[in-house]
Amino acid sequence: MSDSMIDWDGFRAAITGIAIIDDAQKVRLKSRDYFWYSPVLNEQLKGCRAHLVVLPKNEKEVIQVASACAKFKIPVTIRGGGTGNYGQAVPLVGGIILELTKLNKVLEIGDGFVRTEAGIMIEALDEAVHEEGQELLMWPSTRNIATIGGFIAGGSGGIGSVRHGVLRDDGNVRSLRIVTLEEEPRIIILEGADIQKAHHAYGTNGIITELELAVRPAVDWHHAIVLFDNYEQGIRFGEALCREDYDIYLISVVDKRFSAFYRELKDYFPPDKHAVFAMVGPETIEAFKVDAARFGGMVSLMVSEAERAAADIPPTYECSWNHTTLQALKSDRTWTYLQVAYPQPYKPAIDAVIMAEFGDEVYLHHEFARERGDYQLFALPLVKYTGKERLYEISNRFEELGAGIFDAHVYTIAEGGMKVIDPVQMAFKEEADPHGLMNPGKTSAEEAEKVLAAIS
Ligand SMILES: Cc1cc2nc3c(=O)[nH]c(=O)nc-3n(C[C@H](O)[C@H](O)[C@H](O)COP(=O)(O)OP(=O)(O)OC[C@H]3O[C@@H](n4cnc5c(N)ncnc54)[C@H](O)[C@@H]3O)c2cc1C
Repeated sequence: MSDSMIDWDGFRAAITGIAIIDDAQKVRLKSRDYFWYSPVLNEQLKGCRAHLVVLPKNEKEVIQVASACAKFKIPVTIRGGGTGNYGQAVPLVGGIILELTKLNKVLEIGDGFVRTEAGIMIEALDEAVHEEGQELLMWPSTRNIATIGGFIAGGSGGIGSVRHGVLRDDGNVRSLRIVTLEEEPRIIILEGADIQKAHHAYGTNGIITELELAVRPAVDWHHAIVLFDNYEQGIRFGEALCREDYDIYLISVVDKRFSAFYRELKDYFPPDKHAVFAMVGPETIEAFKVDAARFGGMVSLMVSEAERAAADIPPTYECSWNHTTLQALKSDRTWTYLQVAYPQPYKPAIDAVIMAEFGDEVYLHHEFARERGDYQLFALPLVKYTGKERLYEISNRFEELGAGIFDAHVYTIAEGGMKVIDPVQMAFKEEADPHGLMNPGKTSAEEAEKVLAAIS
């Protein structure tokens, strides 16, 4: 149903007392996320907007809104911080944005776990956990503007993943509390393997109001930069750090050409050296330095978090994962990126061929992470955007050379390749969203086509 056919007065009456935003400019801003990282998505999504933003402050209000949306058949796009890169929080067909940032209470911190409302900012949650001497297992570099619910529903892993694996790995997320989108909403608790039903589902199958995560004793992570003349040596050093007995929270290998984007780090990351950005536990610092020397690296920075903050040096995690792309985009909006999974063991020939064929069109950037216990090498190479055809030519070349691509230039879960939509997940959608109102068009290209045809 298009926005013009909806009984908005009836809906507003049904949610009386709950905060809303209806100023057109503010609604437009809340209808956007970081999809503009992709020029392809930017073209497709820049005109999309909701009719209204609704901001419930607790689960009771979420239930009231869910019930009203089911009754008036209003599409619902959930929003946390709106920092997703694939247009996950962008309403394709109008309706409401359901912003959950007021659900921001930490409910319980115990030994090895935290239970929290879903709309809390990740940084605030991590700070609360730190007060109890523990820390979150992983987070994105957007930690101060992204919510924990948005990370579970739209993200996959990040800083900390080299130590603890990705979100979908067993035990990292312990439970999700979900409100269904029905006239009489129900609460469903997902635990164990069932968490996969709603993890990385882009808010298409239920509203996560609370969740429980595993946490670990806090470590005083030191920010380190190691410089290399040769890019492959940086990767080999990263491989050497992937050891069970090392306390390592981050290993990012970044091409020297990125140094132009990191002006605040010019004393530690000069333009003629490739860099490894890392977060290292105190117990591992000496071994880290020995390994750096063994691989021909020079440690240009090693500071504790307190020393870093006092010296006003940017954190190394802001030189990692997708923050690296952001640094480039701050200087020049014609950059974009690819998401690549490398075969194991690392084949330097892939990068040699890419460099020989694409030169200054591609800057290399690799990330180490664990998945189901095994160390993996991912990459977020920066790509100069000159057109969609050329972008996919480069992407296809990575695949021909044996790497896997998670397409960052599509807004549907299935085509993004981060996760296969299995029948169990679709069955859960039937259960949690029987009217098909949740983030319509985001599960697959086929669904998007139908949804867009219905309103045109
Ligand atoms: C510079 C940069 C770096 C990034 N680095 C990483 C990274 O390392 N790893 C990573 O995984 N991501 C990364 N991201 C993507 C994104 O920042 C994170 O995934 C972030 O945690 C998303 O949280 P959010 O609150 O902004 O979610 P939003 O963008 O608001 O929402 C994401 C998706 O989840 C749904 N959703 C939100 N809240 C709920 C809820 N309570 N219930 C159900 N569905 C919900 C939304 O509908 C949407 O589909 C990065 C993005 C940028 C711009």
